[in-house]
Amino acid sequence: KLLLQQATTVKEKKRKEGSGILTGKLFSDLPISELTAKTIKEMNYTHLTHIQARSIPPLMEGRDVMGAAKTGSGKTLAFLVPAVELLYSLRFSPRNGTGVVLTHDVAKKLMKYHSQTLGYVIGGNSRRGEADQFAKGVNLLVATPGRLLDHLQNTKGFIYKSLRCLVIDEADRILEQNFEEDMKQIFKHLPWNRQTVLFSATQTVEVVNFSKLSFEKNEERKGAPVY
Ligand code: ADP
Ligand code: MG
Repeated sequence: KLLLQQATTVKEKKRKEGSGILTGKLFSDLPISELTAKTIKEMNYTHLTHIQARSIPPLMEGRDVMGAAKTGSGKTLAFLVPAVELLYSLRFSPRNGTGVVLTHDVAKKLMKYHSQTLGYVIGGNSRRGEADQFAKGVNLLVATPGRLLDHLQNTKGFIYKSLRCLVIDEADRILEQNFEEDMKQIFKHLPWNRQTVLFSATQTVEVVNFSKLSFEKNEERKGAPVY
């Protein structure tokens, strides 16, 4: 079974190299924690994709990044590795509350060996059950825009004054689903001196304008955003 698995990953890797998705850069050369490196190894990833190679270094320096790359290009790890490393390097613990908010449910795997806590606020789920999570302390929060705004406005136990990073994944779809107004309200609630990351499968005028809006307040912080 293991051999079969290895054979398929080799095939998968060849396919990705063939389609030009991988670069020559190695995960093992990134300045990341052992805990994160271990999961990446378990996932059988060795080389970074182009979007990962272009996004991870500036994100780990604290800069804002807007990245557009087609579906399947590896955007998830491009924002998730820096986000998880941020929480780890700042030693976030439950009592610190939320340090990162993410608009896409992909975090669980990479957090495998980390002690930082993960929570969810998703439209359609039970609001009460979600509010209870905050009592325990949620370091990395996965959220849909409408429900996130709801908790920002109404949930007393939601601690977000130490928030360091907002990741808006699938920004094009968020705009398509008419969440722009909710996102604007969300920007107003969250600390201004945070890092903002925005990923999208398409780079339309709307997405670029939206990213400018989301970066607006912290341009003076760690240098200009990276597009
Ligand atoms: P996107 O969000 O750009 O559509 P994903 O992050 O979902 O892309 O990744 C697409 C696929 O590529 C996933 O199956 C993921 O596991 C795989 N992948 C991501 N990064 C790498 C990498 N560095 N090496 C090999 N495979 C990768
Ligand atoms: Mg994606």
